[in-house]
Amino acid sequence: MSTGGKTNITCGCGQTFEGWLWQSANVTASPELRQQVLDGEMNVVKCPSCERRFHVEVPFLYHDVEAREWIWVYPRDHEQKTGDIHARVQEMWEEVMGKVPPGVRHVFDNEYRVIILFGMDALVLYLRANGVKST
Ligand SMILES: [Zn+2]
Repeated sequence: MSTGGKTNITCGCGQTFEGWLWQSANVTASPELRQQVLDGEMNVVKCPSCERRFHVEVPFLYHDVEAREWIWVYPRDHEQKTGDIHARVQEMWEEVMGKVPPGVRHVFDNEYRVIILFGMDALVLYLRANGVKST
């Protein structure tokens, strides 16, 4: 499942506007969201006043069911708090695991990679390094 919502965003010019931000993307179910990431368009908004386009940094979950990857992308300025974020992601992962039917639990235990990256650019680099291609 992918989740997103409208959020109030403030541009550098002072204008506040509503924009759509994704919080999580299941790129197996929605390959167009993977494409958005690869194109550098994920969570990029356009200010209606000055027309500047910019990326809004919010914690973002990239979930590839096929590749068995659960990747959390945190804003770059969170990098100093790596310990806290690792603990949080671990907590969220355990919550996910708690809801997994016992029959497929071994898949999650043995096959899934839980990865934490800082900055959407890091995700793009990671995907390219792993041979993920644009569709
Ligand atoms: Zn603006």
